[in-house]
Amino acid sequence: MKPVIALVGRPNVGKSTLFNRMTKSRDAIVADFAGLTRDRHYGDGRLGDREFIVVDTGGFEPDSSTGIVREMAKQTRQAVAEADVVIFVVDARAGLSAQDHDIARYLRTTSKRVLLAVNKAEGMRDAPQIAEFHELGMGEPIPVSAAHGQGVRSLLEVALEPFVFEEDEEDEEQREARAQVIRLAVAGRPNVGKSTLINTWLGEERLVAFDMPGTTRDAISVPFERGGRRFELIDTAGLRRKGRVFEAIEKFSVVKTLQAIAESNVVVLLLDATQGVTDQDAHIAGYILDSGRAVVVAVNKWDAVDDYQRMMLQRSIDQRLAFLKFAPIVHISALKRQGLGPLWKAIEEAHASAFKKMPTPVLTRLLHEAVQFQAPKRAGMFRPKLRYAHQGGMNPPVIVIHGNSLEHVTDAYKRFLEGRFREHFKLVGTPLRIEMRSSR
Ligand code: GDP
Ligand code: GDP
Repeated sequence: MKPVIALVGRPNVGKSTLFNRMTKSRDAIVADFAGLTRDRHYGDGRLGDREFIVVDTGGFEPDSSTGIVREMAKQTRQAVAEADVVIFVVDARAGLSAQDHDIARYLRTTSKRVLLAVNKAEGMRDAPQIAEFHELGMGEPIPVSAAHGQGVRSLLEVALEPFVFEEDEEDEEQREARAQVIRLAVAGRPNVGKSTLINTWLGEERLVAFDMPGTTRDAISVPFERGGRRFELIDTAGLRRKGRVFEAIEKFSVVKTLQAIAESNVVVLLLDATQGVTDQDAHIAGYILDSGRAVVVAVNKWDAVDDYQRMMLQRSIDQRLAFLKFAPIVHISALKRQGLGPLWKAIEEAHASAFKKMPTPVLTRLLHEAVQFQAPKRAGMFRPKLRYAHQGGMNPPVIVIHGNSLEHVTDAYKRFLEGRFREHFKLVGTPLRIEMRSSR
């Protein structure tokens, strides 16, 4: 599981600036998707090939009269509780404050590993203003400048140091065996029917549990076989396993949702037909899109809605989940066991699409045909020249296009190419990423 870093500190010390530094901004990739709600409190980060999750706990209202501990919003406490390491951010320019002391006292009660980042420290590495923060008793103050990107890398090095990142120790055979297993997560807000669906699945006669070599059969995954295919159900946020059955727990955890999505190949985004698409649904959908995982939208409780509600629901999906247009939509009733066959089929198709092998000669031929059909626009003196394409990854599939002046290829043209590739390889239920690599 990806380690979780929580950023804690009073307002204005630079937490969100630091957050933006540490996460790859999704805005660049998906700026033109209508309907995508952003939640800038959670983000994926990467240091080399080590991946992690960052939580910005921006949300607490400090109140010096009552003390920060009492006022610390539930959300912040949950974030700290779920974090593997806390980065406590203070402000070198403002200096040490009473609130910082309050936060330090609170953090000590949590017995979490805490790093003290002294922000806004550009041009003051060894200044006494930095040393002053020793007083907090939170260890060595680490000077950073979030705004200028100084010290952030080494801060992350220290933060991630204790975590063991899985080395690729598998041999080819084990990798092949693993690739045959569809890792599946069910994501959705509370009450949409996640535990009902999972228990219905696990209760199916055609489903056989199996022991997967190379994995510890711990609480976090359930391997099973169905119709000759192997699956592994990733333990889903908001659920607890009690013996053979899953049950819903009250609290919803974005962090656990993000971790489950990251661990899976295919995500079933579960919606509640009686509720329409809510903000929280759209948030979760946004995380799934960012992750690049394959996705199937399952509209649950289809048994409980009339024709009018069905029509309104389709409309809200079209509007609010427009950015998941590539995902198949299946209508189901987990309770009445309806629509489950088509759901399995959609999951397997999405998985096959996500792992489709696209040979270089075929990609290059498709590229040339597309250019012949419609050439990219000239941009000033430059006419982008698309020469050849190869596959750069799977789950999500990535197509890398090589040529000259490719930075002038418009987004509209990339979408045109994406459409051609999708159509040829019959890609459904997976995002497809297109990268341009200019040689010049
Ligand atoms: P937050 O409330 O803790 O999330 O703080 P913000 O990230 O919104 O930053 C508060 C202010 O501090 C903004 O005006 C930032 O531009 C500024 N700021 C953030 N990081 C730095 C830094 O490294 N150096 C300086 N000089 N200013 C910074
Ligand atoms: P979770 O919080 O996402 O795990 O949701 P649950 O599985 O606990 O379901 C929440 C409620 O929705 C329960 O009362 C279920 O009985 C009900 N429910 C789940 N699936 C269906 C369905 O397909 N149709 C109907 N009508 N109700 C359902």
